[in-house]
Amino acid sequence: MAGRESGLNAHPVVPVVPVVPADAADLHTHSTASDGLLPPADVVRLAAASGLAAIALTDHDTTAGLAEAAAALPVGLTLLPGAEISCRVRAGRGRWVSLHLLAYLFDPAEPAFAAVRARLRDERVSRARRMVEKLAADGHPVSWERVRALADGVVGRPHVAEALVEAGLVDAVQDAFTPAWIGPSGRYWVDKDEPDVAEAIRLVREAGGVSVLAHAFAGRRGPTIGPDVIARLARDGLGGLEVDHPDHTPDARARLRRLAADLDLIATGASDFHGASKPQPLGAETTSRRALDALVAAARGAEPLTGPAAPAR
Ligand code: AMP
Ligand code: FE
Ligand code: FE
Ligand code: ZN
Repeated sequence: MAGRESGLNAHPVVPVVPVVPADAADLHTHSTASDGLLPPADVVRLAAASGLAAIALTDHDTTAGLAEAAAALPVGLTLLPGAEISCRVRAGRGRWVSLHLLAYLFDPAEPAFAAVRARLRDERVSRARRMVEKLAADGHPVSWERVRALADGVVGRPHVAEALVEAGLVDAVQDAFTPAWIGPSGRYWVDKDEPDVAEAIRLVREAGGVSVLAHAFAGRRGPTIGPDVIARLARDGLGGLEVDHPDHTPDARARLRRLAADLDLIATGASDFHGASKPQPLGAETTSRRALDALVAAARGAEPLTGPAAPAR
């Protein structure tokens, strides 16, 4: 291998974007409508620049970023409307486990599902306020006004984490996701009331959408569920499993891929892009054209959107 040159003759040897397979889709991304750092318009522009054929915008508990993303959609890029729904499941012995359900191609105006998304957003506000109260009770200088201001859209723990960084209490956002702070069962952790995942799957279906279980075996995010629970969710109408995800080990991916095949679920891959707050770039993990077509065929609540035939202006 040629050695790195230095100084004025240096070659740009590090690619800025991952090389994505032809027809690749990244089906799990966040914008400033929730806890991502880029506005929806920038997410779709970056997707096109990264060579992706399709992208889904899946902000936490909201579809608020979709209009901006659709208006900025570059020619040749397909956009799947989506959202990532916080839910929970009973995983034996009365133990509740938090889950994220990716919902695609549902009708955003369908009232029952829209009402649950609105309820979840309200829950997020009261939960973040209670976290701030607990922090204040221990004398930590973090205000609700600051946390609210750090969130452009739906508030989440990353915004509380940012406020902790600003206050000098932790060095970086990820350092707040620990037992000492707001990590799973952390000192300032507060539960939120989340719908049962079976109810969420039913709501997505009744709104015409298809649902995919996000990062199911990402152990570093907290307690996870087993294959028995996933089999039950498949019977409840789950459409797919997110297999390739940055937080999945090779072993977790292999087990999920096998489960998807056994349970006849669509296997997806996605970066869970949030912007520079997380290491993975857009397109770091992708979904095949075949799996994307299967998702589109399974849904009837909304159409995938394609970029305008001619650039606007
Ligand atoms: P919330 O939905 O408010 O509980 O916040 C969850 C979000 O926090 C996830 O969607 C991630 O964006 C972020 N998050 C979770 N765990 C970590 C971690 N260990 N480091 C950095 N961000 C994290
Ligand atoms: Fe997030
Ligand atoms: Fe998630
Ligand atoms: Zn996500």
